[in-house]
Amino acid sequence: MRHFPLFLDLHGRTVAVIGGGEVALRKVRALLEAGARVTVVASELHPALAAECTDVLSLENGSLTTGSVQYVQAQVSVDVQALMVASWFQEAWFIVAATDDTAVNAAVAAAGDRAHKFVNVVDDAAHCSAIVPAIIDRSPLLVAVSTGGTAPMLARRVRRDVELLLDAGLGRLAQFFARWRSRVTAMVPMPSQRRVLYDQWMDGEVARLVRDGREDAADAALAASLEPARVSSGQARSSSGHVTLVGAGPGGAGLLTLAGLQALQSADVILVDRLVSAEVRAMARRDALQIEVGKEGGGHSVTQEEIHRLLVHHATQGLHVVRLKGGDPFIFGRGGEELLCLRAAGIRYSVVPGVTAALACAAQAGLPLTHRNVARSIRFATAHCRGSADDTDWASLAAETDTLVLYMAVAQCARVQRELLVRGRAGSTPVAIIENGGRPEQRVVLTVLNQLTTAVREQAVCAPALLVIGEVAAMAGELHWFGAAPVLYPSQPIMQSISA
Ligand code: SAH
Repeated sequence: MRHFPLFLDLHGRTVAVIGGGEVALRKVRALLEAGARVTVVASELHPALAAECTDVLSLENGSLTTGSVQYVQAQVSVDVQALMVASWFQEAWFIVAATDDTAVNAAVAAAGDRAHKFVNVVDDAAHCSAIVPAIIDRSPLLVAVSTGGTAPMLARRVRRDVELLLDAGLGRLAQFFARWRSRVTAMVPMPSQRRVLYDQWMDGEVARLVRDGREDAADAALAASLEPARVSSGQARSSSGHVTLVGAGPGGAGLLTLAGLQALQSADVILVDRLVSAEVRAMARRDALQIEVGKEGGGHSVTQEEIHRLLVHHATQGLHVVRLKGGDPFIFGRGGEELLCLRAAGIRYSVVPGVTAALACAAQAGLPLTHRNVARSIRFATAHCRGSADDTDWASLAAETDTLVLYMAVAQCARVQRELLVRGRAGSTPVAIIENGGRPEQRVVLTVLNQLTTAVREQAVCAPALLVIGEVAAMAGELHWFGAAPVLYPSQPIMQSISA
């Protein structure tokens, strides 16, 4: 190991930054965030750095304190002896050389070595006695990544990857456990027993409650699990499970949210809809049991009641169950029914939104759902009414909305066309039919309302597909950017450009 990793407490300690340019400015800001008193030594200052060189407010432990940047206007010497007697040099605990003059940087490094002070020379590993890592900041949790100055680009990539793995709630979690630490140590003196407990808390309900912003409940859960009988029997893990409804988005893993990814990676059991792509399913924890509950060939392979039973069954075993749905769980996804069932069973739940088909299809087809002077309102509706009378309010669908997005409507397109026309929507209203939106095989057919049924038939549109009805639909003709260009039906240019 070429470098010894170390975290410095710079609060109230002086750090000298040599150089007055943009690189120096970045370093000054980072040092101020760590509470350092900064002395900038340079012959002249970048204007933004000059602005910083007054008293600066910095946030420390949640309260505002005055940090400071002091400016020493000087031509920095390349004479090591002269450097060592300068008062700014003598006062500094740590020195950052951020000039583009290699002779100055080398002299500062040499002076640091002679005076036993650590020096970081920006982008010059050979002259550094201290290097600065890339960091992932979830204060008080801090992850530092370094390649020993040899490959900063690689460190940045690793940093990005780790950044994705560590959710933003970890800082809060660290603070929560810091608050409990001495009490836990007093009550459970044996380190091995404590380790088991902490693992159980972090994998279980306590951490979930903290993440969901319910620290009071987390305190209660942790306190309950500290009862001596439960600790000694190893039963500290809360027995109540948890269900997370996760919106998987339209297909590609890129449109899954980070929160969705994290839920998938901590799941014990995953109940998956058919609309969820293999790509998203592959992101789940390897050990998780995946159960397919999707609809096959138009029929329900697993009834909604059976899904409810499975959710309750697995959660009451104390497991983390993820209910993974295409798009967003609360948009034509029966998410509400599932939560009502969980609530009735007294099972805790949380919801991670997903990119719903309307948003994904519109973005990927190049079709803005609202557009100045063209569309100011959107309506998401479905024309699907399995097993119930058609109580769709066609009059309001035809009248009120600028952009009408219809889910599960392709099989009903004849009725959609007829009802909207009867209620006065113009036959020339543009319609975009988006099949497999957001997936590599995406297909967009652009037509007009009085041609909708013929277009669906002639183009053999398949599920899943979405209808976007309204003037904005025509814009996909011009703005498309993803996959194959839209098919115009009929093929002559039927739509005028409205982007002008
Ligand atoms: N909860 C989902 C919708 C489920 S209903 C969401 O928020 O997206 C299923 C309907 O969604 C399909 O019939 C289709 O109309 C639409 N849909 C879902 N994914 C789609 C996709 N990739 N492309 C086009 N339409 C899609």
